[in-house]
Amino acid sequence: MASKKPKVGVSACLTGDKVRYDGGDKHQPLITTLLSEQLELLPFCPEMAAGLGVPRPPVQLVASDGGLQALGVEQKELDVTSALQNACNQYIAAKSKLHGFILKSRSPSCGLGSTPLHNDNRIAIDTSSGLFAATIRSHYPNIPIVEESWLDTDWRGRLFITCCQISSNKQAKAGLKFAMGKTNDQELFSTLLSLPQQSAEKIIMRFNGC
Ligand code: SF4
Repeated sequence: MASKKPKVGVSACLTGDKVRYDGGDKHQPLITTLLSEQLELLPFCPEMAAGLGVPRPPVQLVASDGGLQALGVEQKELDVTSALQNACNQYIAAKSKLHGFILKSRSPSCGLGSTPLHNDNRIAIDTSSGLFAATIRSHYPNIPIVEESWLDTDWRGRLFITCCQISSNKQAKAGLKFAMGKTNDQELFSTLLSLPQQSAEKIIMRFNGC
């Protein structure tokens, strides 16, 4: 029988998959315990899907005239931008029904606004979103999306679970939007995810009926 849990995409290294460039992972116990009890986690690594393999040379995000590129850190001539974009396009083409996403911070593929951005001389000039994260944000504008670094306490874990449950329940979402005076899902989830603990606990209790 199909799971009734909200479906949540997650950067695969956060669930313990050894898919990082150095063969390691970035396992986050909160995700594989508290969150996995309530959410159906769907791990995905865009760099593995791009066929880059493990181990692989590390890449960094570079701003150039042609837009954002994923170029080698040590092997400066290495350009995996097209391979990564193809993997992103294939992921989007699969049209997965998702109610939330958890992304790995600072990654040139998965970082959501936290990834160091370099100029042509490879000097860090700003932060931006990685190629996969930007694709997810633009194709799934109406679901809650966070980085693992945001999930730093149990109450934030519970708040994210609640947001994904709301995201998967049309009636609850409509009711909450009305109650909070929000006109669209994006505004609703951005407000919910920025609540301080006390207000977040009220929403969690209200949604869970306790
Ligand atoms: S951050 Fe993203 S691209 Fe890098 S290993 Fe994790 S899932 Fe793969």
